[in-house]
Amino acid sequence: MIALSLAEIAAVVGGQTHDIPDPSAQVTGPVVRDSREVEPGSLFAAFVGERVDGHDYAPQVVEAGAVAVLASRPVGVPAIVVDDVQTALGALARHVVRRLGATLVALTGSAGKTSTKDLIAQVLRRKAPTVFTPGSLNNEIGLPLTALSATEETRFLVLEMGARGIGHIRYLTELTPPRIGLVLNVGTAHIGEFGGREQIAQAKGELVEALPAADEGGAAILNADDPLVRAMASRTKAKVVLFGESAEADVRAENVRLTDSGQPAFRLHTPSGASDVTMRLYGEHHVSNALAAAAVAHELGMSAEEIALALSEAGSLSRWRMEVTERPDGVTIVNDAYNANPESMRAALRALAAMGKGRRTWAVLGKMAELGDEALAEHDAVGRLAVRLNVSKLVAVGGIEASWLQLGAYNEGSWGEESVHVSDAQAAIDLLRSELRPGDVVLVKASRSVGLESVAQALVEAG
Ligand code: ATP
Ligand code: MG
Repeated sequence: MIALSLAEIAAVVGGQTHDIPDPSAQVTGPVVRDSREVEPGSLFAAFVGERVDGHDYAPQVVEAGAVAVLASRPVGVPAIVVDDVQTALGALARHVVRRLGATLVALTGSAGKTSTKDLIAQVLRRKAPTVFTPGSLNNEIGLPLTALSATEETRFLVLEMGARGIGHIRYLTELTPPRIGLVLNVGTAHIGEFGGREQIAQAKGELVEALPAADEGGAAILNADDPLVRAMASRTKAKVVLFGESAEADVRAENVRLTDSGQPAFRLHTPSGASDVTMRLYGEHHVSNALAAAAVAHELGMSAEEIALALSEAGSLSRWRMEVTERPDGVTIVNDAYNANPESMRAALRALAAMGKGRRTWAVLGKMAELGDEALAEHDAVGRLAVRLNVSKLVAVGGIEASWLQLGAYNEGSWGEESVHVSDAQAAIDLLRSELRPGDVVLVKASRSVGLESVAQALVEAG
């Protein structure tokens, strides 16, 4: 963080200082909410959780070097006491980003935010010091904490923003106002909470509404291939930059293909030139993510060659997303168990089909959560796609949604032993342990709540 005195922080957040001998003492960062992450110079934000109360850790964080605690009650050690710690953290982030010399890039979308954020960071950091959301900390607490981790040297601050409802993204953009805003796609993630795709588009579009005008440097980076995102162009004063495979896109891919190992390759076209990309990441859905990252980097002055090289060398920074492990016995495990929605299920199945050419392929799939009324139809469609892509074996894991997956496969013409339904992860592990043969490729994927990474990990260890 940029150095701030306790007196200044208290003024910014409207808090009362308690037990502070020297108000000019400086917080040099980081600002943390986990007592284990405290370093000398830290500010510790005490949150009251369901099981633990951060205030209980106040003495030990000060012992560990924290300058003070941002708290909702006096704690007997130096503290800035506020009504609401989360609101205070947001106010502090807003204050700090105004003083930073960094360009703020924010992105949202239904699927691929973290993957794309990691790509953008890996491209931009070749040009200048870049701070970005760690993992998927994209809410009203993770966002300020990320912004507060920027320093005077930071040139680019890349922030993932998750939308849980109308007004949520607007709130996040008020905390950390972006100059560049990127919307990836409008899918069906969280559709149960939102009510429909139009509402999801309404909520995500709040990002481009918050951008500065074109003549002040604002840029809205929009997916030309997604009609609901494309339509957001009318909701912004910023310059619109389109990415995608469609011909009207400013930043686009030509000759898109999957290499024999299932990695996407394409020719990247930007308004300033063209260059070839062969990705290290798996799955054609990363083409769209890579184009989005390229559009951001182009907007920030990077050449097509620099961008293409960075995209070709970029790895996955976040775990359980198409994580490929080759077992010594020649079985390939693809762990994509971080999360799932209909779009990412389809992309992962197509990647499996490409990787598994001439090999036996297994799709070990569990439920896609939060689909509301569309749940049955979406699971049915995924089961059908597995059959159309000639996936050799579908193992549907879990309750009713898994039976819908299997039913889809059945209705698409898979009547034999190609598709099975097992009750839980352990049953899937037992089945696969006895059935896998050298050369097989196994995809493991479901929504976060299913926790199918246990299957992927057990299979990796079984090799
Ligand atoms: P969350 O809402 O949990 O933060 P996210 O939007 O950050 O998710 P990622 O973590 O990048 O998304 O990816 C989630 C899942 O979506 C992964 O399984 C990944 O393979 C898949 N995915 C990534 N990019 C895309 C895309 N452009 N279209 C569809 N699916 C994608
Ligand atoms: Mg994420």
